[in-house]
Amino acid sequence: MRTVLAAAAGIAIAMAASAGSAQTVYPIDRADILSGARFDFKVEFAGLADPSKISITLNGKDYAQVFGKAATFVEREAGKDQSALLLRDVSLADAGVYNIRVTDGAETRELRWNVYDTGPRKAKNVILFIGDGMSPAHRVAARLLAKGIAEGKAIGKLAIDDMPHMALVATAGSDSIITDSANSASAYATGHKSAVNAMGVYADRTPDPLDDPRVETVTSLAQRRQAMAIGIVTNTEIEDATPAAMVAHTRRRTEYDRIVEQYFAAKPDVLMGGGRANFLPKSENGSRRRDESDFVAQFRAAGYSLALTGPEMVSAAKDPGTTKLLGLFTLGNMDGALDRKFLKGGTVGKFPEQPDLTEQVGAALEVLSKNPSGFFLMVESGMIDKYTHLLDMERAVYDTIMLDNAVRLARDWAAAHGDDTLILVMDHNHPIGLLGTIDDDMTKETPAPLRERVRVYERAGFPNYPAPDAEGYPARVDVSRRLALFSASLPDHYETLRPKLDNPNEPTVAGKDPNTYVANERYKSVPGAALRLGNLPAMINADVHSGEDVILTATGPGSERVRGQMDNTEVFRVIAEALGLGAPDASEPKRTEVVPRQQ
Ligand SMILES: [Zn+2]
Repeated sequence: MRTVLAAAAGIAIAMAASAGSAQTVYPIDRADILSGARFDFKVEFAGLADPSKISITLNGKDYAQVFGKAATFVEREAGKDQSALLLRDVSLADAGVYNIRVTDGAETRELRWNVYDTGPRKAKNVILFIGDGMSPAHRVAARLLAKGIAEGKAIGKLAIDDMPHMALVATAGSDSIITDSANSASAYATGHKSAVNAMGVYADRTPDPLDDPRVETVTSLAQRRQAMAIGIVTNTEIEDATPAAMVAHTRRRTEYDRIVEQYFAAKPDVLMGGGRANFLPKSENGSRRRDESDFVAQFRAAGYSLALTGPEMVSAAKDPGTTKLLGLFTLGNMDGALDRKFLKGGTVGKFPEQPDLTEQVGAALEVLSKNPSGFFLMVESGMIDKYTHLLDMERAVYDTIMLDNAVRLARDWAAAHGDDTLILVMDHNHPIGLLGTIDDDMTKETPAPLRERVRVYERAGFPNYPAPDAEGYPARVDVSRRLALFSASLPDHYETLRPKLDNPNEPTVAGKDPNTYVANERYKSVPGAALRLGNLPAMINADVHSGEDVILTATGPGSERVRGQMDNTEVFRVIAEALGLGAPDASEPKRTEVVPRQQ
């Protein structure tokens, strides 16, 4: 295994070296760039370059003339024999194709950007729902549980199902065919490709995680160009990749302290989720900050109402004086719907008054809709991903139902408030398949061997969960015919084929060898448990993301652009066009005006 990896690495290095004599340029070749959107322009030379021999042109014109300023030349970047040229905070107002030519006198690189404009604004508001890690199997399972099925026909549709426009979206990043949540959310937020662990930047070659070439986010554009309100709502840590990518610029998603600082600088009008630990000064109980900054106090001083529980959030949102709302309901990730409403596992005992995602969305809409210029709201049901990584499918499906409830609430709100809100629902995939059902009696001391409990084709029949409550949740998951949802990516773990009724699943624990994981022995004694050997390297402790296209569904003004097969960077373009975020043109109506839709 090691030999194979070393040989593969050798090939990769050889390829990089042969291509490495040409310059690396950011934004990358074939980038689609919104007119007027800000970005950092960087050229990385493979070796030491002589500045007197460097020539960079855009459509034949000197770059400094086009951008209106000259770049900084770094002779030895990161202390190595490699030069770079960096020009921060530029933009291109005129739409069209830009042919870029970079030469250091010896090597020449040619690339092309497409700068596009957006025309007038069509939507007053945009709500981007991200079901983090939500795959088609999650969605079908949520429909089966929340709506039921009889004689093969679903008894109802999810709010996500019942939307007029749909597309398949490719999720690959600039460095890999497989995305992570940072990279994925960054493409939606900026319209630029990025790399695993990076958001709001192109990941450059220097080790500093905060110096990479930046690209502007949709929240910055919406604030700057249209004076819109911004909301960021999740049930993971608020510093986690998806919410952070709406605002932050870093090559390393784990820079939580810096991300909190970037939130404070950006001042989104609504910011709600878990992750209080990195807002608290180091000396305070529960803090995970590395300094004594108190961001709860700083946000309050900046005019934010603070909510630490669901009831506090509801009353703050109702207060007519609340225009900025910070909700931090747990120290880490919040608990999912199955634990909060039924099982009381996870951290529910410690944080019993966490709001539901639907309540968070209701509160966010109340505050954001006070802004007459409209709002951009990102809502993440983020634990779908976390639970799926842990092979805890029941919890992942309950949080998919919760996402759908939040989408329904937003759609009802939009219908009652002028019908001028673009709503999008999407994310990246896990390799999850719905194979059939698992048939057994959980009270039996000695159940049938694992594989004999899996029912496929006609033997699968239909699951027998109790009828869902008003919110679409069956009251029990430990029924005798359960959905068989399997991941194709497995670490070593004990398979029980049973829902985990106490706490979320923990399939692996750290192994003896550094950076390796082994099966968690905790589940060894569950009746019928069997050791399942993984199909991933031992350094991976969980299920992993997969690279299939994801389903994007959309409704509202501008959603007609959602069709066929799209790249994830085009999702940004759909939003930018709906909100008219391109560089203003004198002939266009005033930017805050919404052009009425033709009937
Ligand atoms: Zn994930």
